[in-house]
Amino acid sequence: MKLNEKPTALIMIFGATGDLAKRKLFPSLYRLYKKGKLSERFAVIGIARRPLSNDEFQANVKNSVESAIKDSGELEDFVSHFYYHSHDVTDASSYLALKSMAEELDTHYSLEGNRIFYLAMAPEFFGTIAEHLKADGLTDVDGFKRLVIEKPFGHDLESAKQLNKQIRKAFSENEIYRIDHYLGKEMVQNIEVIRFANAIFEPLWNNRYISNIQVTSSEVLGVEERGRYYEKSGALRDMVQNHMLQMVALLAMEPPIRLTTDEIRSEKVKVLRAMRPLEGERVKEYFVRGQYGKGSMSGKQVPAYREEQMVDEQSNTETYVAGKLMIDNFRWAGVPIYIRTGKRMAAKSTKIVIQFKDIPMNLYYQTEQTLNPNLLVIHIQPEEGITLYLNAQKSGQNMEATPVKLNFANKGIDGMNTPEAYERLLYDCMRGDATNFTHWDEVALSWSFVDKISDVWENTKEEGFPNYESGTMGPKEADQLLEKDGFFWWPVTDLDVEEC
Ligand code: NAD
Repeated sequence: MKLNEKPTALIMIFGATGDLAKRKLFPSLYRLYKKGKLSERFAVIGIARRPLSNDEFQANVKNSVESAIKDSGELEDFVSHFYYHSHDVTDASSYLALKSMAEELDTHYSLEGNRIFYLAMAPEFFGTIAEHLKADGLTDVDGFKRLVIEKPFGHDLESAKQLNKQIRKAFSENEIYRIDHYLGKEMVQNIEVIRFANAIFEPLWNNRYISNIQVTSSEVLGVEERGRYYEKSGALRDMVQNHMLQMVALLAMEPPIRLTTDEIRSEKVKVLRAMRPLEGERVKEYFVRGQYGKGSMSGKQVPAYREEQMVDEQSNTETYVAGKLMIDNFRWAGVPIYIRTGKRMAAKSTKIVIQFKDIPMNLYYQTEQTLNPNLLVIHIQPEEGITLYLNAQKSGQNMEATPVKLNFANKGIDGMNTPEAYERLLYDCMRGDATNFTHWDEVALSWSFVDKISDVWENTKEEGFPNYESGTMGPKEADQLLEKDGFFWWPVTDLDVEEC
């Protein structure tokens, strides 16, 4: 579609009474509408089991927008595009009624037969829904048909393959939009721009100038009420297989020949293929797992993971992972990329630190100074921006190098600094841009890497669990992982140096 053309589509949200629809999807659609990015030619059918009238559903949508967005203003026009269909997705007989509702709306809003099927439901339903959509003719349209699915995409490579096989019966690969909401984040998208639009970084972006890269995604929250899901998932499947490896792929990929979906994806795939595979004994050498014990957070006592609801008292599930990835190609040979992610950590932060190698000779040794390495920090959340740490001479002092920082903060007027990741991703999907969604090849390669680690972890009980206190940055073994290479984790808080 043309750049400024407004997308037209019928969006069917399966799981429309759920948490994701309420907290993310309705407010994101509203923002797009409010900004004029959606034309009046759109309609939404909310689908869930609960019986609701259109009016009740529209009231729910209104509430969810009002609680997410201050000053949302007049919502009547927006919610008038929303319709509800009570439907158990496992009930074959109900798809035909959905089909005729879709056709009526298609005519009423002149939607040109464009359809987006957004599956905001538990993954065990994905296959059934896709099969019914095809069998009952809902995918039989004149316009485009696109399937949007949420994580988790399978539980391991085998289940992901099964799921993919099921959905591929109804949709081709380029009609499938697998959401990884990290790819919708402003500063994750910015990795590409920082690298490929600046003459000063790309020439240095390799093993001659970079000593190591650190990617942290830490949460302060515990498992909350997701114990049942989390027990089967753990941090490795929940965070590393998707979000962490996606960020690594964007950091390490070669410049694509063009900024098109296919070219970018193919470069990301090459990175995942070049990751050193880990198996058996090697896993212990490269990866560390952790589980939070009780502790104090903001002055409040919090329980250990094993004391959370729906969690086994002897649980072997990891709530923390740190790992060292080696990308065995010309550009990255010898450069460790460290990743860490966990729950109940000291701070909420997603951040990338690129540490450059030391200069060949320290000329400031006479003043007994050790020079700080240059760091490029990409702040992904909650702050958004870039910081470059340099050494400079402080005014009034002779020949002394002091660390200083150059800061670019992406700040908005009232803290709501950038569009929600879901807003971007929904918009991209409506326009048919799949760049920021995960291709099957990426999913498959990530699972085959992660599966080997989970095989080892599932078959060896970690006797030391819990091994980190809530409110800390993880187990000591994660520090040792870097120490044995002569590095340390840079703090997730800003370094205390002057801004220039
Ligand atoms: P939820 O449990 O809050 O909602 C599930 C929805 O599915 C409800 O509307 C429910 O009525 C509907 N449903 C369940 N069984 C049904 C059936 N047989 N027929 C018709 N409708 C049925 O779940 P959620 O938190 O909204 O998550 C949905 C999906 O999104 C999951 O795959 C989840 O892993 C993923 N996800 C959620 C979030 C989030 O922030 N909530 C974030 C990332 C991914």
